[in-house]
Amino acid sequence: SLNLNREIAAIVPSASMVTMAKAKRLKAVDAEIVDLAGGEPDFDTPRKICDELFRQINAGYTHYTVGNGLPELREKIAAKLRAENGCAGYDADSVIVTPGGKYAIYAAVRALVNPGDEVMYLTPGWVSYPAIAQAAAAVSVAVPLDPDEGYRITEETLEEKVTSKTRLLIVNYPNNPTGRVLTRPEAEILRGFVLRHPDVVLLSDEMYEKILFDGNENVSPASYADIAPRVVTVNGFSKCVAMTGWRIGYMAASPEIVKVAAKLFQHTISCTSGFIQKAAAVAFECGEEIEAMRRAYQERRDFFVGGLNAVPGVHCEMPEGAFYAWTKFDLPGMDSNQGGEYILNNAKVVGVPGVSYGEEKGCWMRFSFATDDAQLRRAVANVARMMKGLR
Ligand code: PLP
Repeated sequence: SLNLNREIAAIVPSASMVTMAKAKRLKAVDAEIVDLAGGEPDFDTPRKICDELFRQINAGYTHYTVGNGLPELREKIAAKLRAENGCAGYDADSVIVTPGGKYAIYAAVRALVNPGDEVMYLTPGWVSYPAIAQAAAAVSVAVPLDPDEGYRITEETLEEKVTSKTRLLIVNYPNNPTGRVLTRPEAEILRGFVLRHPDVVLLSDEMYEKILFDGNENVSPASYADIAPRVVTVNGFSKCVAMTGWRIGYMAASPEIVKVAAKLFQHTISCTSGFIQKAAAVAFECGEEIEAMRRAYQERRDFFVGGLNAVPGVHCEMPEGAFYAWTKFDLPGMDSNQGGEYILNNAKVVGVPGVSYGEEKGCWMRFSFATDDAQLRRAVANVARMMKGLR
């Protein structure tokens, strides 16, 4: 047999992508299926951004671009991080523009860990963190947060998992899948943790930062000057600007980290597509469009989460941000994989089983409410009917 890379060969396929593909397949043969598995906005990319893309291509702007990203885009990103996120230490040289936030996470992890090092990540958490750590031959260490504590970070849960081999702690707020934001007291706990452990870098994935509800705010850890040199901030355009398919995101970090990540970037990616970078720069003029989408998500959240919570046997965490309903089903004897199948067969609703996010206990599902009202209404009605039939 062939000699393959052990770490990469052993990675499990992204559960959300597998479920998304399955939902698309099912929907093609049964139009009644409600697909709430995906992790992307149903909105189109703002018109101004698309217009700029065509303008650039028509003008022949189709060549390689230089280095870590167009200077004017990196400048805009750094200015945004300073003004909106309070990260005073970032300038254009702190930024690498990558094909999606996902590659930014990969480049940062590869720049920071050696084989056998430990990468801590909070669960429930996004499926790709442990996979990316594994691809770097690092050991991923799940740090489970407690649903009974509202999934809030505590000092004890972090200290319990840190060892002399820990090099990275990955956090994601607003959170996929729980919808929690990073509160000020939790950010202070992270800050204390980084200060106590000088070998640990904090990676803050802020991909959903503008999707916030009820006036909630989200703290950027790099806004603390004392830990900023050991924080990598990852963000992008996919979720907040409805640009998932464009594949553009970024990381911001200290010069030392950027220098190493840039070497990997240069030899694996070369550069992020120039016309896409030019178009993405227009996103900084799309405040109104972004806010309109946020408002729509808030309305859908109120309706969808409210509707699910009114169903006996269903409990849904109230999301503070992002566009996911993290939902627990009282389906006796079923884990989340079995529950997911049951809900698909009996309510025709597709979600992603909670076990994919590291939640082993109970039957938790992640549903995306970045979809139209009619679908959401149908999902709530179908789930209500299904649960009633059980009682
Ligand atoms: N981070 C989180 C928490 C996500 O949910 C996603 C997308 O699913 C990403 C990062 C990746 O974003 P991008 O599409 O920009 O690579």
